[in-house]
Amino acid sequence: VSAPPGSEIGPDGAVTADLALTNGRLVTPDGVVTGGLEITAGRISRLLGVDAPARAVRTVDVRGRYVMPGVIDSHVHFRVPGLSHKEDWTHGSRAAAAGGVTTVIDMPNTQPAFLDPRTVADRAGLIEGTSLVDFCFHLGVDGGRLELLDHVESGAVAGLKVFMAGHHTAPHVIREPELLAAVFARAAELGLRVSLHAEDQATFDLLDEWRGAGRHRLNADLARPRSGGIVAVARVIELTRRHGTAAHVLHVSSAEEVDLLTAAARELPITFEVTGHHLTFTRADARGGAWRNLSPALRTARDRERLWRAVRRAEVTTIGSDHSPHTRAEKLAPPGLAPPGMPGVQELLAAVHTGLARRWGRDPDWRMGRIAQLLAARPAELFGLAERKGRLAPGLDADVVVFDPDVTWSPTGDSIWSRCGWSPHEARPLTGMAVLTVRRGEVIWDAAGRRFGRPTGRWTPAGVRRGPRPSTEPASAAR
Ligand SMILES: [Zn+2]
Repeated sequence: VSAPPGSEIGPDGAVTADLALTNGRLVTPDGVVTGGLEITAGRISRLLGVDAPARAVRTVDVRGRYVMPGVIDSHVHFRVPGLSHKEDWTHGSRAAAAGGVTTVIDMPNTQPAFLDPRTVADRAGLIEGTSLVDFCFHLGVDGGRLELLDHVESGAVAGLKVFMAGHHTAPHVIREPELLAAVFARAAELGLRVSLHAEDQATFDLLDEWRGAGRHRLNADLARPRSGGIVAVARVIELTRRHGTAAHVLHVSSAEEVDLLTAAARELPITFEVTGHHLTFTRADARGGAWRNLSPALRTARDRERLWRAVRRAEVTTIGSDHSPHTRAEKLAPPGLAPPGMPGVQELLAAVHTGLARRWGRDPDWRMGRIAQLLAARPAELFGLAERKGRLAPGLDADVVVFDPDVTWSPTGDSIWSRCGWSPHEARPLTGMAVLTVRRGEVIWDAAGRRFGRPTGRWTPAGVRRGPRPSTEPASAAR
């Protein structure tokens, strides 16, 4: 018997695992079955059938609960460096672990923004030793320095993040159509996926000039209307068709965008994300201050139900939190000045479970299968993590969540772990809770004792980088 490093060999010569979870409902890629799993040296070493005895140093009976892959949240803003008064990795990764998240992909709009791929190891170094969860990065694109993209090394980043709308002084906002086309062309040549905040700033500016900026400052759905998103999505589809670039549209908010992207995905390498926020709230919930203001804005109940149908049919590829914390003081600024965004990494899994259960409550196993697909397997595949993460299978990292589907809770007071200290879900009960979160075999969250593990989360290689694609242009046109 050859034992993996770190495991023990019992008196009868059998390998003894470090940890076993038994008698749960195991959410595997092939369906939900009663059973468990063993974890050895940080990896899943064996899936257990219903009556198979576990051989482990520690065995936890998880009867009545689901055992699912750790959530991969491919859209968080953990605010380091430069904005750590809003969030930092100690707090943000606690919120993640308590929410069943074991890997996060962090966004680049920090201060300074993450725009130079040669600084990726420094960025990881700022985080190492403070994060409970594994992590990797989206690289921002500096429109004035596209040559920086040539320095992306294989596995260094999950992909590129492009902001099509935003304040004109930010170097990472790509407003001009020609520049966006150049980014798509270069990304295709380098084999990098482009994730986009797809709202068209020129559309917003046009409307503002006509009716007066600030006219709708109390209603984000009118101030930054759906037309901005629809125009941007149409442009992304056209650029994807022209250049063959892999494009992932983030936080889709309207029914029209879902229809366009679902139709386009049949023939183009195009995918999209919805967020827990847009699945949970509508513009009616955004009244009463800026707490639930975000961009893209919350839309109507009809839009929200189209997003849910995209989840039910698996038209959507990933569900992210867009965890974007701001302090209470920042959110209490006068209307129109308060920054958009809200926390959500801790609530993501429970919010998706709550909404699915409310709409399609009859088949809890189907529900958990869909959750594992959209919150773990697909983000792993899309962002180049699938060799190690995203599924319950022997040999993969033991990123595992024990999920109790029957607990009802509200994030409030000292059960909110984000540094910002508030939640848009306060007083809005959620159903289902991560009661045990395991990252690479280590327990990082135990709800029974309200205990976190050690901050040994690691920078994880991500992304796919193919070799440069040959130009499809005829030689004469390339001059
Ligand atoms: Zn975001």
